[in-house]
Amino acid sequence: MLYRTLGRTNLSLSILGFGASPLGNAFETIDPAEGKRAVHHAIEQGINYFDTSPYYGLTLSESRLGEALQGRRQRVVLASKTGRFGATLPDGFDFSAARVQSSVEESLRRLRTDYLDVLLAHDIEFCDKRQIFNETIPALHKLKESGKVRFIGVSGYPLHLLSEVASTCDLDLILSYCRYNLLDTSLDHQLRPLAQASRLGLISASPLHMRVLTQAGAPGWHPAPKRVVNAAKRAAEFCHSRGADIAQLALHFALQYTPAVSTLVGMSSVAEVDANLQAMDNTPDTELLTAVQEILRPVQNIAWHEGRPENYEPGAVPKQS
Ligand code: NAD
Repeated sequence: MLYRTLGRTNLSLSILGFGASPLGNAFETIDPAEGKRAVHHAIEQGINYFDTSPYYGLTLSESRLGEALQGRRQRVVLASKTGRFGATLPDGFDFSAARVQSSVEESLRRLRTDYLDVLLAHDIEFCDKRQIFNETIPALHKLKESGKVRFIGVSGYPLHLLSEVASTCDLDLILSYCRYNLLDTSLDHQLRPLAQASRLGLISASPLHMRVLTQAGAPGWHPAPKRVVNAAKRAAEFCHSRGADIAQLALHFALQYTPAVSTLVGMSSVAEVDANLQAMDNTPDTELLTAVQEILRPVQNIAWHEGRPENYEPGAVPKQS
């Protein structure tokens, strides 16, 4: 396993990180015992960065991860989130200082630990920007000073918003999702230069574009426009016809991206952990990669509406349009 240092911190993260949203049944109902085995196997194989949130499975992911990490807590870098607790506005979100504080206490209990290595304000595009700057980020700083949280940051989808935060706030890291993979590489020009200039750690999540870049294809709730999902389906079928797996190709592509300290993949089985470890070491079939990139070229870098309208990525299109 390769490790990289997270920005200005002393944390060393595996370049392949364990995304724990599937432990909360984010994509399908999983076998919890297998999910636990996946966590243990990942740790044995050197994966040390684990990312969860109270939102994933409405606390189920945190509870399951906490159970799986019993006796292993010191071997991992544990990240959770605050501010997002449900799917839709307004009830699913609360970025107030009081809720940030109380939600961390709840996360610690579910995760069976007394500190988080990383705390992120989750999907800040769902919040009034002024509240993020004036209330949420100061609340994160307070938690850091208290020692309950070691490092702080934000996560979200619209890169202009993450860039604004990166350039104006004192943070340790930023998590961006679905913005560096075979379908979208906008992270590299829209956020990476600023993040590097501020020495912020960059975490890139969803290298499979939340399952679009797999043989199984997008889940029904996926926000990507239809033409994106359809092009990915054609690319997956093309790979299949060549005896290849598009997920392996997509993971290899994303894991080669060195500005990302860690790339988070959602996993919930030992077989997935093994497949994703294998993708790191694969020698890519460059001819196949070029052919797949050609199929995906017409739908490159298409962003969808996410969050409050005033926070949409400029040029983004309606979800599932
Ligand atoms: P992903 O692109 O990692 O896709 C995960 C899906 O692909 C799951 O259904 C998983 O079972 C499947 N999968 C994993 N490995 C596979 C393989 N080798 N072959 C075929 N299928 C495979 O999407 P994700 O899970 O949404 O993103 C990864 C993690 O990043 C999340 O679990 C979460 O921890 C984090 N994340 C954070 C945010 C945020 O903070 N806003 C947003 C998205 C993701």
